[in-house]
Amino acid sequence: MESCVPKLTDATLDQLEKDAKEFALTTGIGCRSIDLPNDNCLQSLRFTLFPSPFPLKWCLLAQRIQQGINLMMHRISYDKQFLEESLADVIRVDSFTRSLYEIYLKVSQDVKASKLNLGIFRSDYMLNKEPEVLRQVEINAISVSFAGLAPAISELHHYVNNKVTSDIKHEQPKINTCDFVASSLIKAWEVYGKKEAIIVFIVEQRTFNICDQKAIEIQLFRKRPDILVKRKQFSDISKDCLDENNILRVDGKEVAVVYYRTGYVPVDYPDEKSWEARLLLERSKAIKCPSIKYQLAGVKKFQQILTDKNILKRFIRPEEGLDELYGTFAAIYHLSDTPEGNKSLEMGLKNPEKFVLKPQREGGGNNYYGSDIVTKLSEIRKSDERNAYILMELIDAVPVTNYGVDYKSSLKSRNFVKDTIISELGIFGSILADGEQVYCNEEGGYLLRSKRVNDTEAGIAAGAGFLDAPYLF
Ligand code: ADP
Ligand code: MG
Ligand code: MG
Repeated sequence: MESCVPKLTDATLDQLEKDAKEFALTTGIGCRSIDLPNDNCLQSLRFTLFPSPFPLKWCLLAQRIQQGINLMMHRISYDKQFLEESLADVIRVDSFTRSLYEIYLKVSQDVKASKLNLGIFRSDYMLNKEPEVLRQVEINAISVSFAGLAPAISELHHYVNNKVTSDIKHEQPKINTCDFVASSLIKAWEVYGKKEAIIVFIVEQRTFNICDQKAIEIQLFRKRPDILVKRKQFSDISKDCLDENNILRVDGKEVAVVYYRTGYVPVDYPDEKSWEARLLLERSKAIKCPSIKYQLAGVKKFQQILTDKNILKRFIRPEEGLDELYGTFAAIYHLSDTPEGNKSLEMGLKNPEKFVLKPQREGGGNNYYGSDIVTKLSEIRKSDERNAYILMELIDAVPVTNYGVDYKSSLKSRNFVKDTIISELGIFGSILADGEQVYCNEEGGYLLRSKRVNDTEAGIAAGAGFLDAPYLF
């Protein structure tokens, strides 16, 4: 594929890296320092120096089906029997998913809990090489990062490009994902309908990805300075926060919207109190983003089940993009102890290089590749634990060249090199709904995350991936 990287001398590159990093630090493309415990120390995130090319037609396809995906997630979350049957095997062996499911059961019996759900989803895709086809990696219902920074990274690319060429061909559509998320939260606040109510972000004890979250909070402030936003942890939420009518109050203020930026991995719930806090928040009248049922609809097990088109059809209609969405699916297999599951397990053992083995987890760093698949499958084949995994066909992504800028790279010791990278396109979507009543359902733009072709995971926080933006052509 065509690259956006011009031929550059070492001296120019050094200068560009410096300019780009200073741009990043000035515009908030940053995170808390991993090495320094001081919370006032920020460092730039990892990013690519230039945009990576991505075919416009595939991006448009992904954008076109996002509203259908939003509705699909909503409908899955409302199908109690489907949730129960689909997760039965998983919750028997996966205690984390089981804890979420138990909260879901309790909340569904609480008549006073809010009936409204806000979902801010990000559906991720890679472009498969041969045949060239868009393949869905996953749909994120919680752990949805980088909407806050996608506009800035696109502007950084424009800025860098202007330093080396006046060629306007690099001008790209404006990315508005930050405003999209802020607006979605505001819409939920409006539907809640109380002028003095506030929005609460539920966050980790130490937020590494602070700039992404703050970008959204600040955009919200710019649009609606009258809406107060507070950042709270699970440990700040206690019984006195909920009154007899299930109205949630934090620091004495009624809460309209709860926006989770934590709560998707076991370490986010360090003790029983954190789980109690999650239950309490879910039982409240505040609108949760995501509600527990939306979070459950994002469990990877559903992705595997929905590869059966007859099941998929129940949740998304032809006019909502059924066929186009189905066309993006890679093959995904369950590994239960059935003739079918055994066959899939053998397939994984025999040709591990063709698959990715995934547990029901979010946030990166949990998957198995290559010989690790063989080790893991051999370890779990005789135990019930095999039900906690899905086996997914490996997407052989189209490689491109770009420069990945690491926060550690410096002019003295450059680990800033031209690399072969592969990209993952993420499309944002948001839905605010209660049963049949859909208050809003929108597609909200895109971002790109890239990684070196030989790295398995793309976790930017984990130090593997790079924030990127597509050069659509
Ligand atoms: P998580 O919720 O942890 O982000 P993902 O399903 O997105 O889980 O997997 C993490 C990363 O693993 C992805 O960003 C992608 O780089 C890689 N990956 C996942 N599935 C596939 C696949 N089928 N083929 C190739 N790479 C994959
Ligand atoms: Mg995910
Ligand atoms: Mg992912």
